[in-house]
Amino acid sequence: MRIDRLLSNLPRFNRQHVRLLLAEGRVRVDGLACRDSRFEVRAFHRVEVDDELVQAGKPARYFMLHKPVGVVSATSHPEHRTVLDLLDEPDKHELHLAGRLDLNTSGLLLITNDGLWSRRATAPDGSHAKVYRVETEQVIDPAAVEVFAQGLYFAYEDLTTRPALLEIQAPHHAKLTLHEGRYHQIKRMFGHFQNKVIGLHRQSLGAIVLDPDLPPGAYRPLTQAEIASV
Ligand code: URA
Repeated sequence: MRIDRLLSNLPRFNRQHVRLLLAEGRVRVDGLACRDSRFEVRAFHRVEVDDELVQAGKPARYFMLHKPVGVVSATSHPEHRTVLDLLDEPDKHELHLAGRLDLNTSGLLLITNDGLWSRRATAPDGSHAKVYRVETEQVIDPAAVEVFAQGLYFAYEDLTTRPALLEIQAPHHAKLTLHEGRYHQIKRMFGHFQNKVIGLHRQSLGAIVLDPDLPPGAYRPLTQAEIASV
């Protein structure tokens, strides 16, 4: 909500009063004077007028989890354990997933209560590369390197995938870098070559790399640098 609206909703201020308070630098957001009447206040902002606290601002929370195979990327599920079940945190219902991994995929999963941040993390604009380790049933066809780089047509969505970087490391193993996250994307890309993905693990998203000290099922808060990288 805009700061001028937030303040003029309070019984003691009218719009003119609020304009004056802002112009005089008496409104502070996170400790800094805010003079912009259009400033968008979020639930995480601390808002003060002079020495009066108008909104305390709730803490924004950001975690990385090493998702194990067999745990579902959802906040609730009728049969499977969910990734939220792995967190020992208060107010878990306020958290959501910044992106998903399939049930049988392991690796880096980001969890937060900051909707704007998770939208940036998952934006399909190519800004945050996602790196996966892939294991396949059949030998990987070297032709896939060029096909993935060109993009594959997905008829169901009527779209062509963004250029992806396939680095074949062994006959059945590769590293794949994507700049988007379509439904079952990697399985479908290898499916184009009649090759089944039998192991999939996400190593990183943008500058956030799965912490090697986290065993499957473990998690930790993101660092300030990791949060700011999104
Ligand atoms: N592509 C897939 O097929 N599965 C995932 O979990 C992620 C990307």
